[in-house]
Amino acid sequence: MQRGTNLGRLGDFNQAVIFESIRRAVDGVSRVELAGSTGLSPQTISNVVRRLLDEGLVREDRTIVSGPGKPRTVLELEANRMVAIGIHLDPGVISVVMLNLRGEVLHSRRLDIPPVEVPEKTVETMAKTVEEIIIESGMPRANIVGVGVAAPGPLDRERGLMIDPPLLDGWKDVEVVEPLRRMLNLDVILEKDTIAASIAELWKGNDAARDNFILMYVGAGIGAGMVLNGEIHRGVSNNAGEIGHYSTGVVAQPCTCGRNDCLHASLAFNHVAQKARAVGLTLTVPDDGNPEERAEGMSQIVKMADEGNENAASLMRECMGKVGQVAGQLCNALDVSQVIFGGPLWSEVGDYCLDGVREIINERFTSKNVHGIEVRSSTLGPEAGAIGGACAVMDAALSPKAAALLLR
Ligand SMILES: [Zn+2]
Repeated sequence: MQRGTNLGRLGDFNQAVIFESIRRAVDGVSRVELAGSTGLSPQTISNVVRRLLDEGLVREDRTIVSGPGKPRTVLELEANRMVAIGIHLDPGVISVVMLNLRGEVLHSRRLDIPPVEVPEKTVETMAKTVEEIIIESGMPRANIVGVGVAAPGPLDRERGLMIDPPLLDGWKDVEVVEPLRRMLNLDVILEKDTIAASIAELWKGNDAARDNFILMYVGAGIGAGMVLNGEIHRGVSNNAGEIGHYSTGVVAQPCTCGRNDCLHASLAFNHVAQKARAVGLTLTVPDDGNPEERAEGMSQIVKMADEGNENAASLMRECMGKVGQVAGQLCNALDVSQVIFGGPLWSEVGDYCLDGVREIINERFTSKNVHGIEVRSSTLGPEAGAIGGACAVMDAALSPKAAALLLR
């Protein structure tokens, strides 16, 4: 828990600290408890609480009797007073969610295997889906703090541009933020999908183990989010986490980077498709198809595994094992306590791949005599990216610097 300060000019920071304390208190929190946990004076707390009450972000109308002494009145979050919309653009799926201040998904929409060849059309589809969700929710537009787009890197977060994502053909230097802002008349930010999903894990999580974790994001592409000492590691250009060209230790096929044993080369659909055909699986798409066909082909293999085809399941276990090999190397570099697996593809295969991956990571981890690595699946499901986009907006809006603007 961050502590506040009683100096007047840092009021916006105190406001953020107090608001975050109320936000995280599921059963409400009294003013006295706030003073205890934040170290702020009753006067400072009273000033901030008055502003939060005026803005309708919290309410204070419930008393709780617990133990001896007089009943205490608690402050509680007005969770739907502020909502954010998250959009996840994955080559295989576009998801849109509306998230409230508590991190609950109020509404969601999912477009499977969307046509993504024409970026402008795809951005229009995103805007249209957001409008549909807003109408369906009946949420006043004034309550919507903004829209966060989670997308594969590399991207330019400051300028709102997708630079040249490897699995989205034709998305070179594509403006995403400006057109959405124009069409929706809402604030829009762009965030790398792995970083967005890590923000979601931080936002939704409470346990201390989450202060140091790696999020292995497994969608059409693979990336890593890194949270160190409770902070997202962004890198200088907000593009940290590109792990596609880490070595799996096994030769696969020539890669775009000039080597032949990278994760990217091993998990490229054409390579996986060849292996699938070699063990007798029938796919109805070409090995070197467009993004839609590649997504379709991968989902055919996943479906066969779901239906009990052991060759398909074992192929997916082999693929995810390679992701585990790379995760183990990251654990050695960063000495984290936990690896969380998530993303659209992992949501489909995690159930039967998790045990093997856990074993590989812990086997690779050099400091295993000091501590083990907890390996688990994200609880956020296939919408982790979209939830992350929305959490990124909330996070930006509620940071100490922005808190002053929020209650203008
Ligand atoms: Zn490579």
